[in-house]
Amino acid sequence: MSRTRQRLSSPEHAAALGGVATEPTRAGEAAFPARISVEVTNHCNQRCVLCPRQAFTRPLGFLDPALFERIARECAPHGTRLWLHFLGEPLLHRGLVQMIARAKEIGVREVGLSTNALSLHGRLADALLDSGLDRLECSMDADDAETYRAMRGRDHFEQVSRNVRAFLERKRALGRERPVTSIQFMRTPELLASLERVVGTWRPLLGPRDFVMTIEPASFGGAIAVAGAAREERPPCRWLTSSLMILQDGTITMCGADWDAHAPLGNLRETTIAEIWHGAELARRRRAHEARRFDEVAPCATCTDWRLADGSGYRNATPR
Ligand code: SF4
Repeated sequence: MSRTRQRLSSPEHAAALGGVATEPTRAGEAAFPARISVEVTNHCNQRCVLCPRQAFTRPLGFLDPALFERIARECAPHGTRLWLHFLGEPLLHRGLVQMIARAKEIGVREVGLSTNALSLHGRLADALLDSGLDRLECSMDADDAETYRAMRGRDHFEQVSRNVRAFLERKRALGRERPVTSIQFMRTPELLASLERVVGTWRPLLGPRDFVMTIEPASFGGAIAVAGAAREERPPCRWLTSSLMILQDGTITMCGADWDAHAPLGNLRETTIAEIWHGAELARRRRAHEARRFDEVAPCATCTDWRLADGSGYRNATPR
């Protein structure tokens, strides 16, 4: 999950997050999600150890572009940001560039996505540069081939490094500022030990608004074992009042911790985003959180990912 959350130290980072609140209409409820993650596909060409998708029980597939059109049309008037990624590799969707361009044409405020960059080359890379895409997050996660293979389950380090470098060089040659591009690394002990070298490698290639980002690994509701500092007081989860997830088959869920959709809120083929956002079930979950009765919402009872909902898991390693 390129989910998404860091210290809100730049607009680009904030845009990538679900935890950005908008004008509330009732206590704890924004008029519409500030951000929606749209899983354009849950197919992938890598096998990352920090991703739970190997344990999917839900089907694999690709988002219907007609459904995406509905999402974009409903979101545009609200200024909702769309992040076209959840568990899967968005560049595998053959209609991706057209969907991005269509969203921008319709007036979606900001469109971004996260990619493992394996397919970020040739005509697809050029088309993405021309698509209107606002943000591109390139997940590297390693600074050498051995660590990369251990993290991502594939020997793609050289190819991915080459792709990202070439993309940044092409963007610079074209004089483009967008998509604002980040090079992302999971904040592991190994990464922190070599962070200075990592930044030194990538900084010369970055455009004025590009950056290196480190990200705190998420547990995906406990599916992945990650270290998490205990916190005495648990607040209501901010994702319940700021964002939604729409999966490739139209299923709507409340957050990335419900990555296998065991507590869906509905399906976009049968309803609208507004109906889900203002619906009884999400209201019930928000009330339970406000009352600190977290065990009344199944995925929330044992979840620790709420810690990342304030954006603190994402950090710019190349601040200016
Ligand atoms: S507490 Fe966890 S499961 Fe509940 S809404 Fe927040 S991130 Fe999702």
